[in-house]
Amino acid sequence: MGNGEKLKEECGVFGAFSLSSLVAFNIYYGLQALQHRGQESAGIAVYDGEKVNCIKGLGLATEVFNKGNLKVLEGKMGIGHVRYSTTGSNDIVNAQPLVANFRKEYMALAHNGNLINAEELRNQLEDEGRIFQTTSDSEIILHLIAKNFQKGLIEAIQETMRQIKGSYALVILTDHKLIGVRDVNSIRPLCIGKKGDTYFLASESCAFDVIGAKLIRDVEAGEIVAIDKNGINSFRLEVEEKKMPCVFEYIYFARPDSVIDGKSVYFTRLEMGKRLAIESPIEADLVVPVPDSGVAAARGYSLQSGIPMGEGLIKNKYIGRTFIAPDQKDRETGVKIKLNVLKELVKSKKIVLIDDSIVRGTTMKRLVNLLKSGGAKEVHVRISSPPVKYSCYFGIDTPTKKELIGARMSVEEIRKAIGADSLHFLSIEGLKKNIGLESICTGCFDGNYPLEVSKGKSKYLFEKK
Ligand code: SF4
Repeated sequence: MGNGEKLKEECGVFGAFSLSSLVAFNIYYGLQALQHRGQESAGIAVYDGEKVNCIKGLGLATEVFNKGNLKVLEGKMGIGHVRYSTTGSNDIVNAQPLVANFRKEYMALAHNGNLINAEELRNQLEDEGRIFQTTSDSEIILHLIAKNFQKGLIEAIQETMRQIKGSYALVILTDHKLIGVRDVNSIRPLCIGKKGDTYFLASESCAFDVIGAKLIRDVEAGEIVAIDKNGINSFRLEVEEKKMPCVFEYIYFARPDSVIDGKSVYFTRLEMGKRLAIESPIEADLVVPVPDSGVAAARGYSLQSGIPMGEGLIKNKYIGRTFIAPDQKDRETGVKIKLNVLKELVKSKKIVLIDDSIVRGTTMKRLVNLLKSGGAKEVHVRISSPPVKYSCYFGIDTPTKKELIGARMSVEEIRKAIGADSLHFLSIEGLKKNIGLESICTGCFDGNYPLEVSKGKSKYLFEKK
C-alpha cells in the first residue's frame, strides 16, 4: 500500500526469564516476529548477573543485531523492543529499552502504547528537578517508578499506574525479576509464554511460536506479573478495570497467526469478511484481495458469498522499506511498482475488491483504476472495518482528521472519489458482534475512547517546534 495509506503500528515488546539458558537469541527471534509492529529501531537489554547490557540502534532487528553483538549480550533474563515513534521523534536517543541505574539497582524498560497525560506528568517531574534524556513518554514511567521505589518495586509500579493515563504494555527488567504490566483498559496486547524453565512476555503470541514456546495466557487489564526464580506472581491494581482492547489490532496491526485475548486474529478477520458479505452482498465474478491486508477478509467474503477468490492484484514482495516514494505527479507508477494487475484474470469481470481499511483513500482510488485499466468490467469495493473518522491517542499514528477521507466525506462521496461502482464499509455493530469481546475500543471509528482525551496534541510533545 502507498505511504500513509495504512495506520502505523506502534511498538512491539518482548521479555525472557530463564533459569538455565541465555536469552539474547530468543529475544532477537521474538523481535523479528514482532517486526511488523515497528521498524524504526530495535533494542535488547540483558542482565548478566552484575549489570544490564543494552544494544540498540535504528533500523530492523536484522540490521541492528548480528551473531557477534548478540553473543555479547550474555544473561538469562532480558527484554527487547521494536519501535515506531508515536511520541518522540525517530532518533536513536528514543530507541528502547531505556536503561537506568538507581539505588544500586538496574532497571530496563520497554513500552508499547501512549500516555495521554504525559505532558502534565513530565512538567511536574521537571519542576521537581528531574532531568530527561529522551523525548519519549516512556521515560516518565521510569522516573515515576524510581520516585516511588522506596515503597518496594511492585508498590512503586502500582503507584506509577495510578498516575499514568493511557495505553501501556510494559516489560521491565530488574536485577532479579522480569515484569509485565498491562494498562487498566488492556488497550495494547501483552501475553505470557513458556518453554521448559524459561518464561516469556510478548506483545503477540506469534513471537512464542517462532522460538517453540507455548502461549500460557494474556496479561490481564491492570495486572502486573512478576517473574523470578520462584515462578510467576500476579498483582492487581485495586481499581475497577474497564477492558477496552484496540479493535485495530484485530483489523490490521497484529499478525494473523497471533491470538489476542483468546481470539485468533486470522479467524476474526475471516469472520469480518463473512459479515461484510452478509451486510453488502453483490453479484460478481471474482473476489480480489488487496495484498496482504485484505486477504483474510476476502477469503471470508468469498466463503460466505460463494464467489471465487482470485489474486487479481500481484504484490512485488521485494520492495519493502527500500521503496523510494515517487514525486506526487508520478504516484501512479509508485502503486504499479508495488502492485500489478493480473489482466488475464480480471478482464471483463465484475470484481469485489476487499481491503481491511481506508485511511486517506488515495491508494484505493489507484487500485480501482488499476483493475479497470486491466479490463475489469465493474469494481465493487468492500471494506472490512467502518470508515476511520477520528485520530487515535493510544499509540497508533493516525493522520490528522482533515486527512482522513472517512472524516471528510460520506460513503457515497468516497465511492465517487475512488471511482468504485459501489462501496460498503462493515458496520460498527457488525464489527463488534464479530469480534465477540464485550467491550472494545472503536475510538477511531466513533470517537468512543477508553479514556477522555484532550484532542489536537502533537505526537512530538517534548520537542522544540
Ligand atoms: S482509537 Fe482506534 S487505533 Fe486507537 S486504540 Fe482505539 S481502536 Fe485502536
